[in-house]
Amino acid sequence: MVGKFELLKSSKKHKGRAGILHTAHGSIETPVFMPVGTQATVKGLTPQMVEDTGAQIVLSNTYHLALRPGSDLVEEMGGLHKFMNWSKPILTDSGGYQVFSLSKMRKISDDGVEFRSHIDGSKRMFTPESVIDIQRQLGSDIMMPLDICSPYPCKRNQLEKDWIQTLAWEKRAKAHWEKAPGKQLLFAIVQGGMDNGLRKESAQALIDLDFPGYAVGGVSVGEPLDEMNEITAHTVPLLPEDKPRYLMGVGLPENMQFCIEQGVDMFDCVAPTRLARHGQVFDQEGGRLNIKNAQFQRDQAPIDPSCDCYACQHFTRAYIRHLFIAKEVLAITLMSLHNIRHMVRLVTRIREGILAED
Ligand SMILES: [Zn+2]
Repeated sequence: MVGKFELLKSSKKHKGRAGILHTAHGSIETPVFMPVGTQATVKGLTPQMVEDTGAQIVLSNTYHLALRPGSDLVEEMGGLHKFMNWSKPILTDSGGYQVFSLSKMRKISDDGVEFRSHIDGSKRMFTPESVIDIQRQLGSDIMMPLDICSPYPCKRNQLEKDWIQTLAWEKRAKAHWEKAPGKQLLFAIVQGGMDNGLRKESAQALIDLDFPGYAVGGVSVGEPLDEMNEITAHTVPLLPEDKPRYLMGVGLPENMQFCIEQGVDMFDCVAPTRLARHGQVFDQEGGRLNIKNAQFQRDQAPIDPSCDCYACQHFTRAYIRHLFIAKEVLAITLMSLHNIRHMVRLVTRIREGILAED
């Protein structure tokens, strides 16, 4: 049944859990890592390659697709799944984060947010309703409501203003979605910055509205790791047990064990593909190797001898280093493939650990 979240097992050692979220384009085993395909593509990889990494769902970006090529065009082309040839689930974010991080001008009112496109400077407006309509045209499986992602650091009175405005928008988004909910799910986004009290108020108000899933936004915005961990540990357990919990924008190898143990079910992060474009690959322990380093010039080993990805099964560090230095696109493809597979394997191992507990 679409929207149902089956909690298979809760750990007795920590707050982690293993579950299955059912969507219109298939079921997702959680915890899950979602590769990011901002412009309706996971950079450098074909959809078949993404699927071969074991990725079960990809994230795409409402802000970027609304500006270019436009949600009307994507709809005309048969929706996002058909347009990008990805038949598994897709989550689209609301565009709120990008409006605040990319656009040149923005003006917030009760109504929504007015901004200038970072592409051509044209004036645009996102409202809670229009953002739902755009995501309906895209046809994603999980939609996110328009929100204000408070910066870090941020004064308490600004944080308070931001989450209260976000809550008002989320109420409107939900009312608009409920007129014809269809098979697309709508998650809520908890805000409140690094303030435990505001996080609690935001979470409680949203729980009262009963969304199909809950996200924690406003993390991974430049705060130190210990603050991110503290707010995650405080906020995630406030969210309903029987709903999926999504920690937005988080997903480095070193974050996974801790965050899953706090009860997070879903992660997304651009890091695996972004790091690959900068020549960085995850090693067996989740550290980084810089493929450009001279030490790899004659290195016959794969990136990670314990990895089962296509790159590690067929190519040496010496060869990938050569490709990267020669600026061959295949270098980026192979490193992206490996980095995503690393994240998928890591999360799968933690999930299996929870399921194997007595
Ligand atoms: Zn690999």
